[in-house]
Amino acid sequence: MNRKLKILIIATGVIVAPVLLSPMPKFRAPLSTVIEAKDGSLLGAKIADDGQWRFPPSDSVPYKFEKALLTFEDNYFYRHPGVNPVALFRAALLNIKSGRIVSGGSTLTMQIARISRGNRARTYAGKIIEILSALKLELFRSKEEILRMYISNAPFGGNTVGLEAATWRYSGTSPFNLTWADAAAYAVLPNSPSLVFPGKNQERLKKRRDDLLEKLYKKDIIDSVTLILSLDETLPGEPINLPSSAPHLTAKFYREAKGKRVKTTIDPVLQQKVNEIINSHQSVLENNHIYNSACIIVSVEKGYVMAYTGNSTRPGVAEHGGDVDIIQSRRSTGSILKPLLYAGMENSGDLLPNTLVPDIPTHFSGFSPKNFDQTYSGAVTAASALAQSLNIPAVKLLQKFSSERFLDLLKKTGFTTFNQPADHYGLSLILGGGETTLWELTGAYASLSRVLERFNREKNYRRSDYHPPVLVAASETKPDSITGDIPLSASSIWLTYQALLKVNRPETETGWQYFSFSGDLAWKTGTSFGFRDGWAVGTTADYVIGVWTGNADGEGRPGLTGTSAAAPILFDIFNYMGSNRSFTQPSEEMTTITVCKESGYRAGPDCPETQEIWACVSGLKSEACPYHRIIHLNKTRTFRVTSACADPAEIINEKRFILPPAIEYYYKQKHPNYRSIPAVAPGCSDDRSIPSMEFIYPSPGVKIFIPRDQTGHMTRIVPEVAHRNPSKKIYWHLDDRYLVTTKYIHQIELLAGPGSHVLTAVDEDGFTIKCRFEISSPER
Ligand SMILES: [Zn+2]
Repeated sequence: MNRKLKILIIATGVIVAPVLLSPMPKFRAPLSTVIEAKDGSLLGAKIADDGQWRFPPSDSVPYKFEKALLTFEDNYFYRHPGVNPVALFRAALLNIKSGRIVSGGSTLTMQIARISRGNRARTYAGKIIEILSALKLELFRSKEEILRMYISNAPFGGNTVGLEAATWRYSGTSPFNLTWADAAAYAVLPNSPSLVFPGKNQERLKKRRDDLLEKLYKKDIIDSVTLILSLDETLPGEPINLPSSAPHLTAKFYREAKGKRVKTTIDPVLQQKVNEIINSHQSVLENNHIYNSACIIVSVEKGYVMAYTGNSTRPGVAEHGGDVDIIQSRRSTGSILKPLLYAGMENSGDLLPNTLVPDIPTHFSGFSPKNFDQTYSGAVTAASALAQSLNIPAVKLLQKFSSERFLDLLKKTGFTTFNQPADHYGLSLILGGGETTLWELTGAYASLSRVLERFNREKNYRRSDYHPPVLVAASETKPDSITGDIPLSASSIWLTYQALLKVNRPETETGWQYFSFSGDLAWKTGTSFGFRDGWAVGTTADYVIGVWTGNADGEGRPGLTGTSAAAPILFDIFNYMGSNRSFTQPSEEMTTITVCKESGYRAGPDCPETQEIWACVSGLKSEACPYHRIIHLNKTRTFRVTSACADPAEIINEKRFILPPAIEYYYKQKHPNYRSIPAVAPGCSDDRSIPSMEFIYPSPGVKIFIPRDQTGHMTRIVPEVAHRNPSKKIYWHLDDRYLVTTKYIHQIELLAGPGSHVLTAVDEDGFTIKCRFEISSPER
């Protein structure tokens, strides 16, 4: 090898090797957790584990700060290789002249090397390492990366590290929104961070800032007007509180993504507004010792969370569980799941919208549901039962559909909180026997709206439309394949929303409340047992709002209902947001069905009046009207007759609406036009095909439990019978032993011990009904 070449290689090695062997500047300190809104504005932050405000690195450099910083610190930053020999030489001269180190002659890159070594004392050895490290950094990193490294790690006084933490702490704004005056002030700070503290320092800080502004003017970076105005600006001062408009969301990410910068889907303006609305309602609710509320808003199309208010942030709420993120807390559902049952039954063809559902006293073993207002209407259309949130019809429907199927439906529509077997919940599942979160509830409603919207747009389904709310926008994923396996059809969802659309309606949960909204809003409230949870959820074609009110510690309050406490918040937010888009009927997959006008069932041959309604195709196989039948009457239509006791030529055949006796008993009271069937004519025999009476209590087969402390004792029960003609006498027997006779009011009291019993009621015409029931005592 050529000798000169050898020398060159060795010489190069001698210079390059120390650079390669020198430490690469690295920053491993813990970071703050930073939560951003969808526009990049700061929603909230948590301090890093070492007690420093040190934000995760940003991916861009603010223009004004860069100009100010480079003018102040390193004019040749984009031209030097990490070290500026001229500056070093000048500094060396200065230091020799004064006999101590007064100037470092450092480039920005060298300062990074120094900061990364923990700002050690300025020695010549340290300086050499800084120089080598700076050269190495420049060798492996771009200028922009180096600049970002400096901006993220420069000290800004006290426990504030990096520009972003500094501008939010001292100026309450993003580094991208700085004025020239502030950009200049922040550019001089890392060089002497203590200047930020108020007092004498401020004068020195102002002097340095103003000098820098003059330089920027001289370099033509700012104009004279900007200079004059900037010189008058106040300096960054004492630290202020960081923005905290979604504290519970910040806390959630502090647990799940500590030390990260999270860009969420939150709309910052809406978030503020929701906080305001919640807090203003809270100021009233607190008078009734209701201290907590939460609200989440989810977009229909992508499921993006637009606002996340996990609790009230009113002063003093901390003593009342204000830190609890209610959006993620499991609470009893009250009536809020009823629409899903309705949708499931429309979907399966078990129900048509106007089908009459019994609304009479109902008893199950250990469970006797009551309507909110404790009244019974006999029978009510399914849609109206849903709109009024009647409990007994809901339980009757769940009994028909089964808890197993309903639980399965809940899981398929996105609920994960119902993880007990169906018999654990039983029929109470529809009245709040299970718990869910506002997060899952709002997510499920958003999924349903999404399914309906997609069907109307594309005429198909995707299983992936059922998903939880989304807090961090993911990059677009390829949509999954079209599927036939869907829990709910678009038509069943649409029919359910139709039932939930009536905004100004009497609400049985609290009496009459007036709500107005200038668009189509499908909404539902829920109130849990003991007035512990007030829910309201509503959807338009654009977004879903879920609201919860109550006490985080679970304390119930009289008057705490979904309608009185949660719905007013829901409507204030909907009215603020507005929405012009309504849901469209998915006619392509629906059909018209001829139904009985009176019963709402599919019309049978004896239904006198019918009408056409839109329904799910599966509704075509739903049950036909069971209540219309032909009866035979005498000429004056006063008695029922048969051909055995009347002249066949004079018999009138009439189609009549005949409800079972117990339903009729209550239905008649609310429907004065309902006509009971005439009695059988004297001398005619009753064919007994139309029962004249029925037990209201007990229900056949029911198990009546004796409370534990009364084990072995007799228990008092109050049987009741509904008779189509209350003036008829009824003779009561228990286990073949005569008890009593009743007339008009067919209700008795009796005492019975543990074991099986048969109760018999015989009317004066000899019509007999029996009811077997069991009184059981708990196992010892
Ligand atoms: Zn009918």
